[in-house]
Amino acid sequence: MSFVPTLDTDNNSSKALRYIEDVYAQLVARNPQEPEFHQAVKEILASLLPILAAEPKYQNQAILERLVEPERMITFRVPWTDDTGKIRVNRGYRVQFNSAIGPYKGGLRFHPSVNASIIKFLGFEQIFKNALTGQHIGGGKGGADFDPKGKSEGEIMRFAQSFMTELQNFIGPDQDVPAGDIGVGAREIGYLFGQYKRIRGGYPAGVLTGKGILYGGSQARTEATGYGTVYFVSEMLKAKGLSVNGSRVVISGSGNVAIYAMQKAAQLGAKVVACSDSAGYVYDENGIQMDTVRRLKEVERKRISEYVKEHPQATYFPSSSQIWTIPCDIALPCATQNEIDEKMARTLIANGVKAVGEGANMPSTLEAIHLFQQAGILFAPAKAANAGGVAVSALEMAQNSMRLSWSFNEVDAKLQEIMGSIYRQSVDAAQQYGQPGNLLAGANIAGFKMVADAMLAEGVV
Ligand code: GLU
Repeated sequence: MSFVPTLDTDNNSSKALRYIEDVYAQLVARNPQEPEFHQAVKEILASLLPILAAEPKYQNQAILERLVEPERMITFRVPWTDDTGKIRVNRGYRVQFNSAIGPYKGGLRFHPSVNASIIKFLGFEQIFKNALTGQHIGGGKGGADFDPKGKSEGEIMRFAQSFMTELQNFIGPDQDVPAGDIGVGAREIGYLFGQYKRIRGGYPAGVLTGKGILYGGSQARTEATGYGTVYFVSEMLKAKGLSVNGSRVVISGSGNVAIYAMQKAAQLGAKVVACSDSAGYVYDENGIQMDTVRRLKEVERKRISEYVKEHPQATYFPSSSQIWTIPCDIALPCATQNEIDEKMARTLIANGVKAVGEGANMPSTLEAIHLFQQAGILFAPAKAANAGGVAVSALEMAQNSMRLSWSFNEVDAKLQEIMGSIYRQSVDAAQQYGQPGNLLAGANIAGFKMVADAMLAEGVV
């Protein structure tokens, strides 16, 4: 993926190209040592050439310079005491990236790899993803370089409470609404919400999403990201006369996104033959038993290698990245960023993959995406394909504001409608700006247009 213009003889196109190159060069200079953030911005900028060339107002009003600079970046100390009595210190983050179309919205990630670059790439992606959902939510993200692995319940709770003691200064139901991401699930959201309520008083249910059903959560929020990814891929396949039914699927990861992608793919008649965690992957020709994975990961909090003890026909391989060597029709990367590199993309293509749907955020490198596109593989980009989670988060906020709860079927029907709409917006924008069939370009352009136009309407913001 490069910034090469499609119409290099066109003056507006050359101007737009120079603009993109300048903004990117400035971004790298102003944010050194943030490779993931650079990558996320580059992916978007590379798609925007046609719209920037067609509509000079964006360049004239410095929209890109404004978009790539977060409205606010907060870092804070998170001190906590471990079970041995030792005091530990982690670093907490919240990036409030863009509030042009609604309050900042985006998850919290607790993982040792978390740093400013990771949080900014996630926050940047979130701006456009959230716009695509059609809900009024701006872009934000946060987290901490805390490793939940091997921590006791008490340690997790004390960490979450300390984290919220600081974060509560900056969030609120109309201001910034965090949710989960890697390392932050229902358990952590419960502790975070409990602490927010103690400090702030009242019952501000809409301050967090992904809450338990008992205390203001939405039906189908847990399932939404995984289900939404499969709904999106299903739309993409349908347009080509293909179907999830009868396909062979490989899903990386075994967290919340992967588990419910597995369930929905199986419900639609696919066979999911492999899944993974950070230590390795399991291959089960009979079809991965989602219930086992869910229990191992969500209840017992064990490694995926344990799966083969209960399903002896399955095999465990201690290298998670090798999961992409398994031949499949549909690949759903649902683990983490940059898990499909150039080499793995080549392997998938050589093995005849027909579609790739990104359940994780930025799971394919720029080189891998480029290879998929060149090979004519159907490619569902993360900010469209995994938007179902945050879309249902927005529905959770709506239910909290109304003090009402919708049924599972009502929320699921709305989720399907939203994923269908994201698919159509992406197809239409790609068509309109001269890149028919390129869902990555379409999603980026459609998301950008909504946010940029709102910013223009709001003045110099
Ligand atoms: N972390 C999820 C995402 O990447 C969900 C965010 C949310 O529900 O606010 O979109």
